[in-house]
Amino acid sequence: MARGGRRLRQPRRWQLAGACRACARCCEAPTIQVGRVLWYLPRLRATWLWWQRSVNGFALVRADRETRSFVFDCTHFDRTTRRCDSYGSRPGICRDYPRALLDQPWPELFDDCGFRARAVDADRQRAVLEQSGLPPDQVEALARKMKLD
Ligand code: SF4
Ligand code: SF4
Repeated sequence: MARGGRRLRQPRRWQLAGACRACARCCEAPTIQVGRVLWYLPRLRATWLWWQRSVNGFALVRADRETRSFVFDCTHFDRTTRRCDSYGSRPGICRDYPRALLDQPWPELFDDCGFRARAVDADRQRAVLEQSGLPPDQVEALARKMKLD
């Protein structure tokens, strides 16, 4: 619902390209950013954290005040095999990764993630770059920085 609301307020800037390589990097420290209400209301926060621990198997590791995020250790993640023991019933946050990041102004995915964020109008921006007269290597470098790949 929150994402739908954001879509109505501002056009989408990023799309998802690539594919999952099943590296499980995103299972090492699942992180959830929350709204102000949940962050500042102790009872709501405690209930939500209880839910994360009891239902999702997310054990709290730390809270990051700056980003209003909770970092968890997932009890379903086997660090030796790097497998999920409940993949079929994994939480929404896991199903949604990294698509949820596309709502951020500048999505930062893990370096080794097989997905990448790509500008929605990447083809148009690339055409502008290619007509700029810049040397091809500079065009490619800029295209990478601007997430046009
Ligand atoms: S529930 Fe499964 S998919 Fe989600 S973080 Fe844990 S191990 Fe990864
Ligand atoms: S970090 Fe990316 S490639 Fe690796 S498992 Fe997660 S979504 Fe897949």
